[in-house]
Amino acid sequence: MQTLLDGFPHLTLIPHPTLCYKLEKLSSHLGANIYIKRDDTDFLGGGGNKLRKLEFLLGDAINKKCDRIITLGALQSNHARLTAAACNYANLQCDLVLGKTVNRTDNDYISNGNLLLDKILAINVHKLEQGIDVIKYADDLSTKLIQSGSKPYIIPFGGSNPIGALGYVKCAFEIKQQEQQLDVTFDKIILVNGSSGTHAGIISGVKLFSLNAEVHGYNVVRTNEKSFGLTFQHALSAISLFKNSQAALTHHDIIMYDNFLGTAYGQPTDEAVAAIKLLAKFEGIFLDPVYTAKAFAGLINGLETGKYDKKENILFIMTGGSPALYAYKSIF
Ligand SMILES: *Cc1c(COP(=O)(O)O)cnc(C)c1O
Repeated sequence: MQTLLDGFPHLTLIPHPTLCYKLEKLSSHLGANIYIKRDDTDFLGGGGNKLRKLEFLLGDAINKKCDRIITLGALQSNHARLTAAACNYANLQCDLVLGKTVNRTDNDYISNGNLLLDKILAINVHKLEQGIDVIKYADDLSTKLIQSGSKPYIIPFGGSNPIGALGYVKCAFEIKQQEQQLDVTFDKIILVNGSSGTHAGIISGVKLFSLNAEVHGYNVVRTNEKSFGLTFQHALSAISLFKNSQAALTHHDIIMYDNFLGTAYGQPTDEAVAAIKLLAKFEGIFLDPVYTAKAFAGLINGLETGKYDKKENILFIMTGGSPALYAYKSIF
């Protein structure tokens, strides 16, 4: 079945399936069945979900003979940090265009965490002042670089486009194999929806490989109203890359929540901080305050309120982000 993915240019950044196992201690504490897929575990650059997207995005860039990557994000972007690390590994030049999209000005936010790692990776970081259009800046930079003889490749916010989503189609295939190895069928797959590529890729993979699970995305950037159409479109485009597939997607397949987003992207919530402490205490795993802790808070709340049945097998996709903890020291 994985041959479905063989036709797409690909650069290996994650050499093995990521670990998938039951959170035994937390599950018995909550009387539930929670599994985790460790997409945060270190391969390159500290690990995280963007590496899966970058396998296909950089594969495409190299296939197109591009020599330079431009990507964009917030100052504490995990995606930017992982793109920089993967570019160093793949011997591509890299420009990060980072905007002040999150209203946090303390010293840790503006210099620690991902920004420290970007500095160590020694690529080109363009920090824009508030109000400057990040996308336009990246386009202008690309034009300038073309004029000076380079061949740049722009990766959108979060690596979220149909090619990037292929990384999570592949992840769904891994999950299907791991269900067999663990002798479990997941009823729910719970993940973060930021720029929508992870959610779109997983739901596409669930359809393409006929998994049983319902996929629940917890929005941390946009409200449902804005995120729904985007996620649906990304998933439709990703599925349409598989020309011979009969997989069909309907609106009912996109299930998402925005009630754990808090006041804004990048602003932690009390429930998220509690979730970080809970998972650290019971399992020794570090959730992050911007993405994964908000989704995990939704998962815990769902178990408490009966939205999720305690007998269900629930898989949480741990998408990474722990370097951001150092940028949010003040919340602990
Ligand atoms: C980017 C990111 C997400 C969200 O993934 P999208 O594909 O942008 O929706 C989730 N968790 C972490 C840690 C991330 O860095």
